[in-house]
Amino acid sequence: LAKARGRGEVEVFDESMGEVAQRRLHLENQLRHDVETGSDALSVAFQPLVDPRDGRVLGVEALARWNSTPYGVIGPDEFIAIAEDCELIHDLGRSVLHTTLEHAAWWHSLHPELEIAVNVSPVQLRRPDFAQQVSAALARARVVPQRLCLEITESVLLDTEGATVANLQALDEDGIALAVDDFGSGCSSLGQLRRFAISKLKADRSFVDDPALLRAVADLAAALGASALAEGVETPEQQQSLVRLGYRQAQGYLWARPQPATAITDLLGPRRETHATVTPPPPRRT
Ligand code: C2E
Ligand code: MG
Ligand code: MG
Ligand code: MG
Repeated sequence: LAKARGRGEVEVFDESMGEVAQRRLHLENQLRHDVETGSDALSVAFQPLVDPRDGRVLGVEALARWNSTPYGVIGPDEFIAIAEDCELIHDLGRSVLHTTLEHAAWWHSLHPELEIAVNVSPVQLRRPDFAQQVSAALARARVVPQRLCLEITESVLLDTEGATVANLQALDEDGIALAVDDFGSGCSSLGQLRRFAISKLKADRSFVDDPALLRAVADLAAALGASALAEGVETPEQQQSLVRLGYRQAQGYLWARPQPATAITDLLGPRRETHATVTPPPPRRT
């Protein structure tokens, strides 16, 4: 690692590397530092999951955020891949889960039915103690397993490596819901879907303008006894189309972007009552 080398050596080493490789090495070292020190450069944003008919909030999805030094904000598609490559995903994923469940315990006091969705990497699922860790985290935060939904990728359904299958079964037995994220963008097997007690299919964002595909996902979900959610909804036209197709769950910038936990608390909190109170205008001076 660059950090472990002497100052002079780092420069020689860096000059021999391409800019892309240098950036990547730097990001990896910085990410390791930020994960290991629990730096607040890492945070979690939450995006509401709503009923597309009326915008009622049904749940929230936790999305990891990283404001790296010195590159600035790096998207999760990039830093999650780095974390997966260097096994940092286990600690990073655990910290996202713990942070999320801490907020969830409070949100459930305002909205007991709120679903808490957390993304899980295929790499995390290969660890034998993954399901057990999730259960321990739920118990610690006093969140019931039935409110947690873990979002897995299609590739997980085909994963025969490590403890994936055992973990999925254990999670299901514990009452934790499983959703297939970005459904339709990968290559999953219909047989595997049935085998794993999948409770939700999240239609990939690229389908949001394709009613025929959205219908196919909804039909498949119904056949599995699962629910369907449409991702990436940005326009009222898309919303109306989803409602016509019978979708009861959606997510997208049309309703809300991923936001800090405090904004979710405001959204769920007794704020509405406060707002309903009419404040009389101050008496006029004559
Ligand atoms: P995802 O799980 O499919 O999350 C939805 C992504 O779509 C998020 O991107 C969200 O910001 C974005 N999105 C939501 N509504 C809209 C919309 O209306 N239009 C558009 N264009 N985009 C929308 P984000 O936050 O950049 O996350 C990207 C991916 O990174 C996630 O996709 C997920 O696969 C992964 N990810 C994020 N956080 C974590 C995590 O804690 N663990 C793991 N393993 N993966 C994570
Ligand atoms: Mg997701
Ligand atoms: Mg998705
Ligand atoms: Mg995705």
